[in-house]
Amino acid sequence: MSTPSSLRVVVLSGPSGAGKTTIVGELLAKSPVPLSLSISATTRPPRPGEQDGDHYHFLSPEEFQRRREAGEFLECAEVHKSGYWYGTLQSEIQRIHELGSWALLEIDVEGALRVMELYPQAISIFLQTPSMAEYEQRLRSRGSESEEVLQRRLRTAENELKFAASYRYCVVNDQLERAVREICEILSREDTGSHVG
Ligand code: 5GP
Repeated sequence: MSTPSSLRVVVLSGPSGAGKTTIVGELLAKSPVPLSLSISATTRPPRPGEQDGDHYHFLSPEEFQRRREAGEFLECAEVHKSGYWYGTLQSEIQRIHELGSWALLEIDVEGALRVMELYPQAISIFLQTPSMAEYEQRLRSRGSESEEVLQRRLRTAENELKFAASYRYCVVNDQLERAVREICEILSREDTGSHVG
């Protein structure tokens, strides 16, 4: 896909349960630049309260596969070995570009590496929990996963951490407000900085 030089892409990854969703919400409210969240497609079923087209575009495995073969995804991956697929639709990036916004992609490491390949100018941010022990504690206090899923997420997080160095920025999510402020500062700097398309 051609990449218009004015298109700004922000990629945010980090272990699930590290407070990513909260950070994303805060960022959308406080960003110093126009920022829109890319709504991913997924084959995982909606959780209570999740609306189609709002949190995700919920697709059947067949529909996902059809769109994948049709080349409609910028990137897609089976995340956390869950058996569920997640992907960023090209049409989402196009929609956000037409809005004149920067696209915020909250995606896993595999997808993020692919996006960085496609858009070398992408602002990639890895959100890190202060320590593995604290991460485990956060996951446990959330209490929404079985022990098996929790262990799988811990292993994935440990694995993903190895890729943190591939991101342009690494932000420690020690305190929500502080982490959001740091990311806003990054975006401000990128806005006024020496960006080359
Ligand atoms: P959840 O099922 O908890 O909503 O999301 C699980 C994981 O899927 C998250 O860690 C998130 O980063 C990842 N994810 C969500 N959307 C996408 C996407 O479009 N592409 C990729 N590669 N990962 C995604």
